[in-house]
Amino acid sequence: MQHQAVQPARIHAGRVLVIAPHGSYRSSAFIQAAQQQGIEVLIASQGEYSIVSEFAKGLQIDLNDEQQSLEKILQAAEQQTFTGIIGTDDATTVLATRVAQELGLPHNPVAAVRIARSKDQARQCLAQHNVRIPDFRIINTATALDAQLEGVTYPAVIKPVALSASRGVIRVNDRAELDAAITRITAILQDELQLSEQQRQTLLLEQFIPGKEAALEGMLYGGELDVLSLFDKPDPMDGPFFEETYYVTPSSFSAEVQAAIKQEVQAACHAYGLTEGPVHAECRINEEGIWILEVAARTIGGLCGRLLRFGTGHNLEDLVLAHAQTKRIKVGAQEGAAGVLMIPMSEAGILKRVEGLLDAQRVPGIEEVSIQIRDGYELVPLPEGGSYLGFIFARAETSVQVEQALRQAHDCLNIVVAPLWKVKI
Ligand code: ADP
Repeated sequence: MQHQAVQPARIHAGRVLVIAPHGSYRSSAFIQAAQQQGIEVLIASQGEYSIVSEFAKGLQIDLNDEQQSLEKILQAAEQQTFTGIIGTDDATTVLATRVAQELGLPHNPVAAVRIARSKDQARQCLAQHNVRIPDFRIINTATALDAQLEGVTYPAVIKPVALSASRGVIRVNDRAELDAAITRITAILQDELQLSEQQRQTLLLEQFIPGKEAALEGMLYGGELDVLSLFDKPDPMDGPFFEETYYVTPSSFSAEVQAAIKQEVQAACHAYGLTEGPVHAECRINEEGIWILEVAARTIGGLCGRLLRFGTGHNLEDLVLAHAQTKRIKVGAQEGAAGVLMIPMSEAGILKRVEGLLDAQRVPGIEEVSIQIRDGYELVPLPEGGSYLGFIFARAETSVQVEQALRQAHDCLNIVVAPLWKVKI
């Protein structure tokens, strides 16, 4: 599909369907961007209450029933023309792709999105295409484990195949830790009723890859990858759980390494068959080369999309809205540096309050401190939880200054948490 080059001010008009899981961090960013562009938005989402706001109309769907949701959306499409379809998060990318396919709007092959969405299929696909990935095996927790775990080398990482945001991802250093982790992940998956039984029983066990980690945010146009931003993750991520913390751009990797990262991510997209729209990839870098950990057919999660505005001069959502409507915004070179700290949830319990917000906000370079969880609500850290306490955004001339500002702002915060005792009945 050919995308017509436009300036953002000329995306105007049109009606976009945004398919988002309940409580997505991403919906409001898309609604806001569309509003600024004069694009009408219909949000298709799940939940007891539809998220109709004064800016966007809502359509209630059941994400557990993909076929029924597809039919409901197509019925809605008979009443009103959609000029683009966007799936905001992992849970909605396949449905969005199916809708776009039915309506003849820009989309990836459905099979490619299904592969990207499923960690076991993704690994098998990348292995077949000789993309560098950790050694892995697929475990079925419903059958005897001893034979399946024979000969495992440690350290290893064990993870569910259909969750995201590092939920249930655990590093293990020996068999006892592996057994404990499997029990823990199985308990997490038991409550994930939107997953199929098979998804709840399947785990991916893979070699732990040491090294630095980077995240690439890109857009695919006709199979060609446009890198929007490459983020360094300056804190070591050695486990046992893998909380995202600092993201800083531009990357400090050499131009050569950055080109190699792009090449590997492009190879992974090609292996999956992804050709269109946003791509968020995570990789490890060490002396052996670039290792693909994940390539998802969606934008970066949380509120981090805001960083792209600094990196490219455009909102990430503008780029995605344009792409979904067969248009392409040309991205300029990066000026200055930007970063985010996804504020770690280091303790479980009830959030009493966050102190020091004003001091954090006053640190030079800090653009915003945004606490996402309200006082009185429960904090559930990884590996069970999957949300962030909040975000700190910074901007400065260099990545080093950005990182320093984020660390200094974080030091100002005192997160007061009360213990929570749960009565087991
Ligand atoms: P999710 O999609 O839930 O974020 P990932 O598979 O991307 O799950 O893993 C989340 C994080 O866990 C990664 O960003 C990385 O830090 C760590 N991780 C996952 N697999 C490995 C691995 N094989 N070796 C080293 N670290 C890993």
